[in-house]
Amino acid sequence: MTETEAPKRYWIWTVGCQMNKVDSDRVADTLRARGYLPAVREEDADIIILNSCAVRESAERRVSGKLGNLVALREEKPELLLGLTGCSVSPDFEATRKRFKGADMYFQPTRIDQFLDQLNERWPSPTDAGVMACWEEQADATESKGPVAYVPISNGCDKFCTYCIVPYRRGRERSRPMMEIVDECGSLVKAGVKEVTLLGQRVNAYGRDFKNGTDLADLLVLVNNIPGLDRLRFLTSYPRDMSDKLIETIAGLDKVCEHIHLPVQAGNNVVLENMRRGYTREDYLELVARIRAAAPAIALSTDIIVGFPGETEEQFRDTLSLIEDVRFSTVYVAAYSPRAGTLSSRWPDDVPKEEKKERVQRLNAVQERISLSQHQELRGGEVDILVESTESERSDLPQWQGRTRQNRRVFLPRGDEDLMGRTVRVRVEKVSPWAMQAVPA
Ligand code: SAH
Ligand code: SF4
Repeated sequence: MTETEAPKRYWIWTVGCQMNKVDSDRVADTLRARGYLPAVREEDADIIILNSCAVRESAERRVSGKLGNLVALREEKPELLLGLTGCSVSPDFEATRKRFKGADMYFQPTRIDQFLDQLNERWPSPTDAGVMACWEEQADATESKGPVAYVPISNGCDKFCTYCIVPYRRGRERSRPMMEIVDECGSLVKAGVKEVTLLGQRVNAYGRDFKNGTDLADLLVLVNNIPGLDRLRFLTSYPRDMSDKLIETIAGLDKVCEHIHLPVQAGNNVVLENMRRGYTREDYLELVARIRAAAPAIALSTDIIVGFPGETEEQFRDTLSLIEDVRFSTVYVAAYSPRAGTLSSRWPDDVPKEEKKERVQRLNAVQERISLSQHQELRGGEVDILVESTESERSDLPQWQGRTRQNRRVFLPRGDEDLMGRTVRVRVEKVSPWAMQAVPA
């Protein structure tokens, strides 16, 4: 870049999970390290990166639609560079290029090196070594962050549940070195972060690949010790990997919040077996009981897939009854969609679309009733929330938004005091299945 040239502007469009958001931040850091600046509007960008999700068909459709629009935009602006990353990019770039036509660059989500190689072909950069060093510094930077941060601790997944594309797109499970994670969390806290969520597709299998006995419990103890950190969370736990040691550690550490996201996916044993989840309904219920015996305050949330190949009405009802039995705090329901390359995509997708939709609605209706009654129990009482953002949708009533340790969403009217990043005690006044409205206690 010469001195007279205006700095290039980037725009990153992200769909999907927290892991994708972290990957997008990494791409942004890399671009900033090269001297590029964020664009204020998408139309002003010189480079646009789409960070895609392939976990469900609906997400992938959005990615295709978005890419189509951007390819049209590039017709008017031929110098625009378009990059596609995320779980839609398979290691077979040719196949990806055929499915998602028109991007100039394709790179896998954990492969910044692939991104840099392709970027350098278009926009030569002084030295790559410099860029990488800069990026590492960036990770350390004490620039001010928001109060909550997400830290990947493992990448990929080895489970190969029959419906899931993740292992094919994110590769084998690899844990990051423990001290690297602790250092990163320490720097984040120095930069103002109050709550850290450790991320992994199977976060509670962390460290297994080290083959030296290190596990998530050990890591939690170290991160829990970081002075200035208020709250610690971790996502997503795989039911089979919830050891007694881990449960006791969670129960015993003061900063670890009373919330575990523990996807069950289905409540019927035949469906679970077809999904290759590796546990039965009874195993799962027994695990829930073990967790609650050790730490009764823990709120559990879950993911469910309805309309899996062959799922009958009766089998679906087993999922409904499991939801009633466990009383989760939140349930994320997805209609099954076959993902090319997975085992279940070879089986007939035989639950009609309308039926899937109806099952989604029935499950959501049951869960809404449960969430509402849990929130009603909290009405009139006091809870501690960590204020993490402001709500922008309702400008007539400016609100803070925070979460309880159990991960329940709470709104609080904004006064003069800046509460961002503070843990405050509030009184719950009004409730809905999705959130609570509070006033200062
Ligand atoms: N590692 C997590 C899940 C990652 S994918 C786990 O083991 O649970 C996130 C969620 O997307 C899954 O929990 C599942 O509910 C949903 N999902 C994954 N593949 C899907 C598919 N083919 N159709 C519909 N939902 C799917
Ligand atoms: Fe996918 Fe199963 Fe791995 Fe979760 S555990 S990422 S659902 S293969």
